[in-house]
Amino acid sequence: MEEKKRILITGAAGFLGSHLCEFFLKKDYHVIGMDNLITGSLKNIEDFFSLENFEFYHHDITKFIHVPDKLDYILHFASPASPIDYLKIPIQTLKVGSLGIHNCLGLAKSKNARILIASTSEVYGDPLVHPQTEEYWGNVNPVGPRGVYDEAKRFQEAITMAYHRFHGVETRIVRIFNTYGPKMRLNDGRALPAFIGQALRGEDITVFGDGSQTRSFCYVDDLIEGIYRLLMSDYPYPVNIGNPDEISILDFAKEIIELTGTKQKITFKDLPVNDPKQRKPDISKAKEILKWSPKIDRKEGLKRTYDYFRNLPKEELRTSSHNNFEKYIIR
Ligand code: UDP
Repeated sequence: MEEKKRILITGAAGFLGSHLCEFFLKKDYHVIGMDNLITGSLKNIEDFFSLENFEFYHHDITKFIHVPDKLDYILHFASPASPIDYLKIPIQTLKVGSLGIHNCLGLAKSKNARILIASTSEVYGDPLVHPQTEEYWGNVNPVGPRGVYDEAKRFQEAITMAYHRFHGVETRIVRIFNTYGPKMRLNDGRALPAFIGQALRGEDITVFGDGSQTRSFCYVDDLIEGIYRLLMSDYPYPVNIGNPDEISILDFAKEIIELTGTKQKITFKDLPVNDPKQRKPDISKAKEILKWSPKIDRKEGLKRTYDYFRNLPKEELRTSSHNNFEKYIIR
């Protein structure tokens, strides 16, 4: 019998990490999930604990990582990943994106494992090129409130390429654009859980700025398939994965109002500092190299996501997504 592939997923209890665990468990891999649970939740992965193929390490990857036996793949997805998180825990965000990735790359080198790292469209900052191609170097403010995340992710890409070039480690870099779906945290301050949470609680929908800023939202299942294809490819340079269907945040809020049937109105709040004005991936590379493009449109994806949120226990809904936000936001 062929030995099972062994994969380590950091950030396993987070939104994307937990979907990746599920995906690879379904493919019959032995999945080792790792998380320090600062922003992740065990609820996202509780169904996997009874499976023989799943192990969980409660560990902070900024400390030395020990995993026994062989490892075929490492997926590095540990990081706070929403504006509210990196305003609340800026130092941890920088540490996981520097010390954490260094440990992961060292582990990949010692185990001779292939490593894929989660980068982000934030490496493009407030982009002056639209749509964003992988060749664009970005427009990031290193000392602004988002700098702790954006620069950590840029550093991650640099150290990953260095391990590839200097040590010959097999590396892959995915630049993830806005992604949504079940298991997002209701109170992480992101637009989609904020709007749906507000609708479900009967609060007004808070649009920041005049809502003319754009984003392009990708359904999580599409993203995971793109990540899998990139991992299995032999392409070591960054690849954008996202859905190029661009929409203004105001129109997006209106879509959520229609979907949820809420009678609440939209209220406008100040735009956070360095909030990118526009964002849309150019996915030519993913199409050409990975033969990948998104399949699930926003209508279908939002319906599935809303079904998840409205079935959450009532007590989870009660925490307002913006309870603490005002305190942390720097304008
Ligand atoms: N946003 C908003 N109201 C909210 C939360 C977010 O208008 O209650 C805006 C936010 O300022 C940004 C967009 O929605 O322009 C997407 O925000 P999100 O945090 O989801 O992602 P990111 O800014 O990282 O792309």
